[in-house]
Amino acid sequence: MRKQHPIGKGDPQKIPSQQSRFPLVTTWGGRFIDRRIKNAPTMADNFPGKLEELPFKGIMTWNGIVVRHEDADIPSLTYAYLREARKISCGECSVCMIGLDRVIGIFRKFIEGTGTIQDLKEIEEIAYQVSVNGKCYFGRSAALVPVADAIKHFRQDFLALITGKRVLINRGYEFAVTAPCIEACPASLPITAYIEKIKNFQFRESLELIRLQCILPGVIGRTCTHPCETACIRQKIDESLSIRLLKRAAADEDLKEGASSLPLPRKEKPEKVCIIGAGPAGLAAAYHLRLFGYGVTIFEGLSAMGGMAAVGIPDYRLPKEVLFHETNLIKRMGVDVFLNRGVDLLKWDDLKEQGFKALFLSVGAHRGGDMGLAGENDLVDGFEQGIDFLRKVQERCSDIKPVRKVFILGGGNVAIDCARSCLRLGFSHVEILYRRSRKEMPALPEEIDEALKEGVKIRYLTAPLRVKSKWGRLEGLECVKMKLGDPDHTGRRKPVPVAGSSFTLKADKVIAATGQEVDASFLTEQDRKKLLRGNKVWADPLTCQTDLEGVFAGGDCVTGPATLIEALGMGNRAARSIDAYLQGKPYRPQNFFAGIDTSLQRNDGFLPTKQAVRVRLLPESRRMGDFIEVEAGFTRNEAMEEARRCLRCYRLMVWEVDKPKEEQPKGRGRGT
Ligand SMILES: Cc1cc2nc3c(=O)[nH]c(=O)nc-3n(C[C@H](O)[C@H](O)[C@H](O)COP(=O)(O)OP(=O)(O)OC[C@H]3O[C@@H](n4cnc5c(N)ncnc54)[C@H](O)[C@@H]3O)c2cc1C
Ligand code: SF4
Ligand code: SF4
Repeated sequence: MRKQHPIGKGDPQKIPSQQSRFPLVTTWGGRFIDRRIKNAPTMADNFPGKLEELPFKGIMTWNGIVVRHEDADIPSLTYAYLREARKISCGECSVCMIGLDRVIGIFRKFIEGTGTIQDLKEIEEIAYQVSVNGKCYFGRSAALVPVADAIKHFRQDFLALITGKRVLINRGYEFAVTAPCIEACPASLPITAYIEKIKNFQFRESLELIRLQCILPGVIGRTCTHPCETACIRQKIDESLSIRLLKRAAADEDLKEGASSLPLPRKEKPEKVCIIGAGPAGLAAAYHLRLFGYGVTIFEGLSAMGGMAAVGIPDYRLPKEVLFHETNLIKRMGVDVFLNRGVDLLKWDDLKEQGFKALFLSVGAHRGGDMGLAGENDLVDGFEQGIDFLRKVQERCSDIKPVRKVFILGGGNVAIDCARSCLRLGFSHVEILYRRSRKEMPALPEEIDEALKEGVKIRYLTAPLRVKSKWGRLEGLECVKMKLGDPDHTGRRKPVPVAGSSFTLKADKVIAATGQEVDASFLTEQDRKKLLRGNKVWADPLTCQTDLEGVFAGGDCVTGPATLIEALGMGNRAARSIDAYLQGKPYRPQNFFAGIDTSLQRNDGFLPTKQAVRVRLLPESRRMGDFIEVEAGFTRNEAMEEARRCLRCYRLMVWEVDKPKEEQPKGRGRGT
C-alpha cells in the first residue's frame, strides 16, 4: 500500500522549509506525485505552469489537486470546492445534484463530529457513480472527481477529521470558473451560462448575460469568426455547438419581442472621456464607460456608427438594420456621437482643456496596404483596393460598373466579401487569385464554400507580379505559379515562385484585398513618436494604456487587421482600465486559467451523438442581383434544440489563498 503523507506532517529533512513556488504534492490529471518522497518524479510534466503566479497554498481544480504549502488544509478546501460545485450542478440529472448534496451532508457530519470511516467509503462510491452516470461533463469530470482524489491521497487528514484531531475551518477561499469555449473567446463571453438560458427558453435573460461582454450581439452573432467553436469539446463526440448562432438567436428573439433597451448608469460621474472612432472597439468602450456614469463623446469620420461592420461587411452577411439598431441603443444611453467628424489632427492638450480626462483611440486600420506589385501605385483605372470597393458597395455608389472579368487578390474574408459582392452586382467572371492552397486560406471555410457554390472561381498557387496597363487603363495582370515550401512563422507553408512559370491574365478589373494598415496621419509628429511602434499604435494588451498619459487605445489600430470580437474585447477592457485610471485605482485583469489546458478532463465516457442543428440558407438561385441576408438564423425551437447539445464543460478552481486578506485577488465566477 502507498504510504500516505498528510500535509503538515512531512519529514522536515525532505520538505523545503520556506514556501515553495512549486508544488509539494499534485494529483493533476489523476497522476499522484509527492515531491517530499525521495526520488519523486519532477513536477515539470505534471503542473499547470501559470498556477505558479497564483498566490495559493492548496488548489482544487476539476483536473486534480495541487498543494504548494505544507500548511494547506485539504479537507477544508474540499468542503469549499463542494459548495461552489453545488452552485453549478443544474439538477437536470439527479445523480449529480443529489450526490453533491449527500457529500455536503457528510461534510456537515464531520463538522458536527459524527463522521465515520464508512462515510469516506460512501463519498468515494458517490463520486464514482456521478462520474459514470452524470449527463454532462461537469458532473462526469468536475463535480466530484477531485473530491475522490482528496479522499484517496489525503486520507490521513480525513481520518483526523473523523477522530476529532482536526476540524473544518474557513481559511479564506477564492474561486474561478470557466470552460474551454469561454477561454477561446477573445471577449470571454459567459457562453455556458447564456446557452443554458436558451435551453430553458429564457432568451431575454440569455441576451442580458451576452451583453455583459458583447454589446453588439446581433452583429457578432452573424459575423464572428467563432474561435470558441474551434475549442468546443463537443467536437470529440460529433460536432461543435453552434455558439455564434445561439448568440444571434438571443438577439433576434429580442428584436421580435419588441427590443429591450440598455441599462442606464445608476450614478453620474463628473469626468468626461473622448473616443475617436465608432467601430466595435470604440462602441464597447463607450457602452461600459457610460454605464459607469461617465460623460462619453465619440468623434467618427464616417456617416454611420459601426466601423468596418458598417462599411466593410456586406449586407448579405450583416443587414444594416441590425447594426443600426444595436449602435443606436448605445447612443440612446446618452453617448454624444458626432458623425462625419473625422479628427484631422489630434491635439490631446486641446481636448483636455475642453474637460476630457481620458482619451480612447479606436481608429481601426482603414488604409489599403501595398502588395509590392509593380505598377500598383500608378493610379490605374480598373485597379482598386478591396475596402474602397466594399465601401462603394455599401454606399450603393453608382460608379460601380459591372465588367466581364474581375480578379480579386488575396485569400482572407475581405477577398471573399469582394468576390461575392461582385457576383451580386452582375460581374460575369469573378476569380480569386491566392498564392497558397485552400488549406492555408485565412477566410472562414463556410464563407469559401458559399462563394464557390455561388460561382466564384478560385485559382490557387498563383501570385500577381505586375499590374499591366495602357494609357492609365488596366489591361491585365502578370502572374507567376507558386509551389509550397517550408512553413513560415505563422506555421503555414511558404509559397515559392516556380521558375519560368510567369503568364498574363487579361482583366477588366482587379481588386487588391490583402490587408489594411493604420492611417496615423491624424497624429502629430511628436505623438507619433510616443504612440506608434512600427505602423501600429502600441498599448498594453491588458490595460490598453499607451505611453501618453491619459491616452488608451484598442482594436485594429493596436492589433492590426483582426476581428470584430477582438476589437470589442479590447474596448471592454479599455473601459474598465479607464475607469480604474480615473478613480485612481490599480487595474490589471488576471486570467486565472492562462497557460492551463482547459480541454483536459479526466472522464469522457459514453455520451449519445447528436449532430448540430443545420441553419437554413437562402437558395443560391435567390442570391444574385440582391444583397438579401443569406443565413436565416435559428428559430426558437431550433435554438433550444441546439442549446441542449451543450455538454456543460465547466472548469472550476477553488484555492486557499496565501496572502493577507486585504491583498487577496478577487475570485470570479465566469460562466456560472
Ligand atoms: C471587408 C471586411 C470584412 C470583415 N469581416 C469580418 C467578419 O466577418 N468577422 C470579423 O470578426 N471581422 C471581420 N472584419 C474585421 C473587423 O471588421 C475589424 O477587425 C473590426 O471592425 C475592428 O474594429 P475597430 O473598432 O478596431 O475598428 P473599425 O471597425 O475599423 O472602426 C474604426 C472607426 O474609426 C473611424 N476613424 C478612423 N480614423 C478616424 C479619425 N481620424 N477620426 C474619426 N474617426 C476615425 C473609422 O471611420 C471607423 O469607423 C472584416 C473587415 C473587413 C475590412
Ligand atoms: S460543449 Fe458547451 S460548454 Fe463544452 S466547450 Fe462546447 S459550448 Fe462550451
Ligand atoms: S463572440 Fe465569437 S468567439 Fe465569443 S462566444 Fe461569440 S461566437 Fe464565440
